[in-house]
This record gives sequence, structure tokens and C-alpha cells, in this order.
Amino acid sequence: MKLVILDRDGTINEDSLEYIKSEAEWKPLPGALEAIARLNHAGWHVVVASNQSGLGRGLFDVVALNAMHAKLHKLLATAGGRVDAIFYCPHAPDQACRCRKPLPGLFEQIGERYGIDLKGVPSVGDTARDLVAGATVGCEPHLVLTGKGEAYRGKPLPDSFPAGTKVHDNLAAFADYLVARDAIAIAER
Ligand SMILES: [Mg+2]
Ligand SMILES: [Zn+2]
Repeated sequence: MKLVILDRDGTINEDSLEYIKSEAEWKPLPGALEAIARLNHAGWHVVVASNQSGLGRGLFDVVALNAMHAKLHKLLATAGGRVDAIFYCPHAPDQACRCRKPLPGLFEQIGERYGIDLKGVPSVGDTARDLVAGATVGCEPHLVLTGKGEAYRGKPLPDSFPAGTKVHDNLAAFADYLVARDAIAIAER
């Protein structure tokens, strides 16, 4: 199956240093939902892997998180797209879990759920820890220069990023890249 794993905050929706705590604060980045729809139409399943330590820190509850994700699903459906599932780490950093990125637990859960090896699966995020978590299980690292990724615009990536990290302006540019690469691979078959 063709699977893409996306980070949430700063990749699909606007990020905030104050955390995204409510449905009202959850705002898609320009073109991001349409980008997911384009991936879907090209045959890609999309899942989300997201650190949500705001839960563990008591900044919002699961009801609020579910409302954010209901909004994501609804707006995305309007744009003609869908994500199959949203995997999240609910823990605070001091809880020493295995699912908080840069640790690979969320990615392992995804691999188990789908019964597939994640080697070569494109993984997209706006921080090094997103890409390190995916790279640990063999995912292909893609950085978007939105959210926290904006800091790397026009600069070389530090060594904290996995080797071979590809850089894209935003999720729309990533989707265009992946769909085009797919089309070339099919044409050459
Ligand atoms: Mg992020
Ligand atoms: Zn966790």
C-alpha cells in the first residue's frame, strides 16, 4: 500500500508556542488540506502522527482533541480528502513514554496497525524530531518549511536532521513532488 505519515501542528495546521488547545485554534495551513486530497487521489493513504503533550500537561483534554480532529476530518472531506487515522502521543516529556517523537513508538504503532514495514514510507514534519522518529523505523524524511520549519528557510539543515532529508516549501510542494515522482516511476516501468 502507498502510505504517507504526516506530522500535524506546523505541517497540516498552524502551530503555536502556546499549543493548539481547542477546535477554534485549529486552523489549516493554506493549501494543506488540498495537498492531502491530491495525495489521496494519486492513491496514497495518509495517516497523522502527532505529539500532543498538551494533554499530559493538562492544557486541554481528550474531548477538545477529538473536537480538533473532527474539524480536521470535516474540512478535509470538504476539500475532497481524508486521513485514515490520527496517532498521537498524549504524554508529557517527564512521563518517559516510547511514543513521544523523536522516539519511534507512534511509527511502530502505525506499522503494527497496517501490518507493514515502514521502510521507505515518506514521513513529513516541520521539526527534526518528527523526521528522526520516522527515520528510526526506516521512513524517508521530508521537511516542510512551515511551522517550526520556517526557521530553516534559506539555511543548511543542522546535523540533527536524518541524512537525506528532503526540503519542501510546504505540504502542497511535498504533495506535488511525491505525485510527480510516482508518475515518473510509473512511466519508466
Ligand atoms: Mg510539528
Ligand atoms: Zn507518549
